[in-house]
Amino acid sequence: MSAPVAVRRIDPEQERELLAAVERWVDQEVAPRVLEYDHADRYPHELVGQMKELGLFGATISPDYGGLGLPASTYARIVMHISSVWMSITGIFNSHLMLALAIEKFGTDVQKREWLAKLASGEVRGGLALTEPDAGTDLQGIRMTARRDGDHYVINGTKTWISNGIEGSCFALLVKTDPQAQPRHKGMSLFIAPKLPGLTVGKKLEKLGYKCIDSAELVFNNYRAPAANLIGEVEGQGFYQATGGLELGRINVAARGVGIAEGALKLATEYAQTRKTFGKPICEHQAIQLKLGEMATRARAARLLTLDAANAFDCGERCDLQAGMAKYFASEAALENATESMRIHGAYGYSKEYHIERLFRDAPLTCIGEGTNEMQRIIIARQWIKRNPAV
Ligand SMILES: Cc1cc2nc3c(=O)[nH]c(=O)nc-3n(C[C@H](O)[C@H](O)[C@H](O)COP(=O)(O)OP(=O)(O)OC[C@H]3O[C@@H](n4cnc5c(N)ncnc54)[C@H](O)[C@@H]3O)c2cc1C
Repeated sequence: MSAPVAVRRIDPEQERELLAAVERWVDQEVAPRVLEYDHADRYPHELVGQMKELGLFGATISPDYGGLGLPASTYARIVMHISSVWMSITGIFNSHLMLALAIEKFGTDVQKREWLAKLASGEVRGGLALTEPDAGTDLQGIRMTARRDGDHYVINGTKTWISNGIEGSCFALLVKTDPQAQPRHKGMSLFIAPKLPGLTVGKKLEKLGYKCIDSAELVFNNYRAPAANLIGEVEGQGFYQATGGLELGRINVAARGVGIAEGALKLATEYAQTRKTFGKPICEHQAIQLKLGEMATRARAARLLTLDAANAFDCGERCDLQAGMAKYFASEAALENATESMRIHGAYGYSKEYHIERLFRDAPLTCIGEGTNEMQRIIIARQWIKRNPAV
């Protein structure tokens, strides 16, 4: 039922120019303002306008609908670079692109024509609304219901932790159209849910890190969704459609992890060469060298695993195992490198005037999103055993 994923390539020169433009933007516009935004926990409206101009809201959407149609490997490089400075702002277009992917991969032609161009330009921005107060990892345990009523569905229930929940205006919404169905996933459906009467946005959730981007509760109370907004106009496929973008989603979180791991390494490398104790730069102490050696290796391994998964994705190969490994390894690398970099900074690592404390607060999210790392290891092991049966 899903269209085959077109193999995507990019001309190397075009890729270089695009990455250079993103790097310039990060250097000139993002880096100088990140401390101010992050500490104020203020939504970066000014940067969103610039992200539209760069085409980031259409990064992985097909050029047929005005997107850049980037391969996953180029997209991952963009996410890596931005996250090495400020991971939060990747959240403004990452889950937005997962909404677009669900429509492009599983939507009807009418749905694609209606939504994809507006999503690609950033005119409509949104995200993915799957998690509920009582169901995150166990997604099939959601309680939100959609009951057919003529040419509409009436939707009731609550979603939580939804990225772009306040600033976004449209979501891919996972519901139960048949709450009694067994197996449970057969009763699940996915809707395109723009903000209409019946949808109330709760307050912005306060977080340890991942500041500025709005995470919110969305309450649906007799929300009437046109039946034409049921993705693919078919019930019972929602679980499959919502998780159909999981490989790209995991590559995306892995790329965030690589960014943080590399950013933390860069900060530590600079600091260790300028901070002196006992008459020499601390990078000349063996204890610090051991840390830097491990951090550099972890960052490199995370990058290679992530690009390996992205390249397999771009070739149209099945890459769930590679993407899971990349997500797991890169997110743990982010957490470990952020922690070690903070220790190398000594007391200054604990200061809000230095960048490393932000990376330290942002890193743990990569271990939670797109499948917690507890689940990730179990999924990797199951797949691994399946592919390596005892002879
Ligand atoms: C900042 C932020 C942004 C988010 N953005 C979005 C978003 O845009 N859209 C969205 O839908 N959701 C979003 N989420 C929610 C996120 O996807 C969930 O938090 C995640 O799926 C985990 O679910 P949970 O928090 O309910 O944890 P639970 O599922 O309750 O898990 C709790 C713990 O138990 C472990 N666990 C659970 N089941 C098993 C098992 N079978 N075996 C072993 N261990 C297990 C987990 O690994 C975890 O350690 C966001 C969360 C955060 C923090």
